[in-house]
Amino acid sequence: MPELSSKLINFTDSVIRRMTRISNKYGAINLSQGFPDFDPPKEIREALKVAADKGPHQYSITWGAQNFREALAEKQKRFMGIDIDPETQIAVTCGSTEAMMACVMTVCDPGDKVIVFSPFYENYAADAILSGAVPIYVPLNPPEFSFDKEQLEDAFKQKPKALILCNPSNPTGKVFTLEELKYIASLAEKYDTFVITDEVYEHIVMDPYKHIYFASLPGMFDRTLSCSSLSKTYSITGWRLGYVIGNKRIIENIRKVHDFLTVGAAAPLQEAAVTGLKLPDEYYEKLKNLYTRKRDLFLKGLDEAGLKYVKPQGAYYVIVDVSEFNVKNDLKFCEWLAKEVGVGAVPGSSFFKEDINYLIRFHFAKKDETLLKAIERLKTLKEKAKFYKE
Ligand code: GLN
Repeated sequence: MPELSSKLINFTDSVIRRMTRISNKYGAINLSQGFPDFDPPKEIREALKVAADKGPHQYSITWGAQNFREALAEKQKRFMGIDIDPETQIAVTCGSTEAMMACVMTVCDPGDKVIVFSPFYENYAADAILSGAVPIYVPLNPPEFSFDKEQLEDAFKQKPKALILCNPSNPTGKVFTLEELKYIASLAEKYDTFVITDEVYEHIVMDPYKHIYFASLPGMFDRTLSCSSLSKTYSITGWRLGYVIGNKRIIENIRKVHDFLTVGAAAPLQEAAVTGLKLPDEYYEKLKNLYTRKRDLFLKGLDEAGLKYVKPQGAYYVIVDVSEFNVKNDLKFCEWLAKEVGVGAVPGSSFFKEDINYLIRFHFAKKDETLLKAIERLKTLKEKAKFYKE
């Protein structure tokens, strides 16, 4: 057989999605891959029924159905505080996964460098590698997951084409401060670098923290490729509806990449999701409150189970320290956890570039009853871990 592409040697399949398969195999409560076990809003489900009857069932415009882009521009304007032209400044994609990949492919030539904060959502490394780009990792240091200013500037000195910014951050739950964002912006300007954002948790930010859209910082719109999706905001991760917002010239080119990657996002789902995009501000307030409550419920359970964690400020993940269990291989530990304790988690090593194997990630986007059941099981962890061997 001829050789396959050498690009594939440098990464594995997604460990996050693998942990879902492992959780299913052992019947574990799956707190690994982040998706809800509760329904999307009723209005959206009703709109989907209407779309099933009335269509559209054929391709929409490759860069997104007209009414979807218009509703999205309107909604994002409300939150980002920026006028967005639905005709020229939006590309609708199959999830923000495609959005991010299309962005990296659009701005990078093979050999170009891309700054990625570590820990990072595992797709970014794959985005860079498949685009022929080379990641430069800059650590976010626990427990605050803040970066060292000098280290970040050193990375910029290597003349990267782009920096990837996940805010609110997966897996840490960090919400970047205005000061941090302004500093990144000053370097992006000084070294003439694009910033590709992943802001899929834009509406899951707990008080007193606030999400600041990078593109809304003074002078940043033209160098920012703002990626996000409807997955987390409307609990429709399986619909695969994402998008990029940006400057006209950038979007024109992203649309080309997207056209040849996937042609377009599912037309009937875009149609139904317009209803979600038109929900009033109250919906987002409720979503925030829902996740604040779920976070507090789950963290209380972790306290009761005697586990140490870093309190998340946003998104729906929490990093838990399992160093007390003598973990050498966190992937094996997570497999053991799924099998023996009955709770699925993601090993931290799939997020960290550094050699860190004592942190694991849980998510709390689950019904209260599911979280309570998981907590009951986690309370047995300390006892069971006495017999943990690798
Ligand atoms: N963002 C989710 C997570 O980190 C997973 C998304 C996906 O699998 N596409 O768990």
